[in-house]
Amino acid sequence: MESIEKRISDTPRMSDNGFFGQFGGKYVAEILRRTIDETGVNFEKAMKDNKFLAELSELQRDFIGRPTPMLHAKRTSDLLGGAQIYVKLEGLANTGAHKINNAIGQVLLAKYSGKTRIIAETGAGQHGVATAAACARLGMKCTVYMGEIDMKRQQPNVASMELYGAKVVPVLTGSRILKDAINEAMRDWAANFETTHYVIGSALGPDPFPDMVRTFQSFVGRETKSQLAERGLSPDACIACVGGGSNAIGFFEPYINEQKPRLIAVEAGGIGPGEGNNAVRMAGDAHLDILHGYKSKFLVNEDGQVNDTRSISAGLDYAGIGPQLAYLGEKGRIEFTSATDSEALNAVKVFAQNEGVLFALESAHAGSEALKLAKTMSKDKVIVINMSGRGDKDIFITSPVFRPKEWGEFLQGELERLNSNTEIHSSKITIHEEEA
Ligand SMILES: *Cc1c(COP(=O)(O)O)cnc(C)c1O
Repeated sequence: MESIEKRISDTPRMSDNGFFGQFGGKYVAEILRRTIDETGVNFEKAMKDNKFLAELSELQRDFIGRPTPMLHAKRTSDLLGGAQIYVKLEGLANTGAHKINNAIGQVLLAKYSGKTRIIAETGAGQHGVATAAACARLGMKCTVYMGEIDMKRQQPNVASMELYGAKVVPVLTGSRILKDAINEAMRDWAANFETTHYVIGSALGPDPFPDMVRTFQSFVGRETKSQLAERGLSPDACIACVGGGSNAIGFFEPYINEQKPRLIAVEAGGIGPGEGNNAVRMAGDAHLDILHGYKSKFLVNEDGQVNDTRSISAGLDYAGIGPQLAYLGEKGRIEFTSATDSEALNAVKVFAQNEGVLFALESAHAGSEALKLAKTMSKDKVIVINMSGRGDKDIFITSPVFRPKEWGEFLQGELERLNSNTEIHSSKITIHEEEA
């Protein structure tokens, strides 16, 4: 770990002044300019600060649970009769996914930069949960902006954020979803930048966020490389799913400037082709645009309005993509493909039943591509997938698909129990409350 940590700090910047080819940049309101520049300077300073790096390393080990394991999916590989599939079990990280790597890195950076308050935006709630947990661990105040509609849909994550002590603010403007929450968080940041750091949840947004988020996620790829090397292996293909792109770029990072292996990014194919039915950007018809502070490929119509996207996995349901992935895709270093909702569900089942590992629906998109690819490769080849998250969080989506009747009855029963027991719940259980 010691040497990995050293090398990470050597490559905090891959962009050229914030740009990856034509992609990236910092397109922010004048008022945020200084804050953004300062964030970049603080980031570079922290990556040269041995005290910061040692504290980050300790948090990764003791709080997150790094290094996360590397599993040979042997039964699945034998079943397919082709390449050997290995799975980086990133979903075993504390809070259940890779998002904590970025959250803890940025919250620690904020602390070292003298900030006392953290804000974040969240759509499905996963990034909000990771940020809230990181703030609890490091004793920072945390406010999470979330569209009112998303809050209704993602109650379990709202409850978790509040348990970790975060304040979740419903956003009532616009369509009351993720993009409106981003605007609200930007507004808060502009008003409070002296005390506040804004933790962006994926490898996108204005410079320095794409470089910063990749750096905090690159531990995933670097561990993978050394875990395979310990077994005398080097991968022929690396596969990751892509929402905004943070788990993919972190997973691919040690290989970006090498010829091998194939790097394959899997987007959400949703219910199939057609506008609004999926979130296929690079493998589809995304257009160059500037949104949310950066230039990249977006699913927009002729008027520059963001199209609706659709996916069974909330984490991949996004219209843009991180600028470095867009650049590497255009250059041909990263190949883009997609998997549909039903292919992802099938992959969840295959890995659960053959390996005893429950993939998050997002990660199952990568799993699905591995199932297709392995069959076309010989037995001595190696495919490694990043299981970006575990599937416990998806039980409300997978159960209605796999066991619709029983799940309906269960929810009905829960509702009746809630209605008849409300008084008992609130009178018997007292939680010590402390006003923040
Ligand atoms: C959020 C999320 C993703 C997508 O985000 P990226 O920034 O593209 O990695 C993928 N997998 C899981 C489990 C997530 O929670």
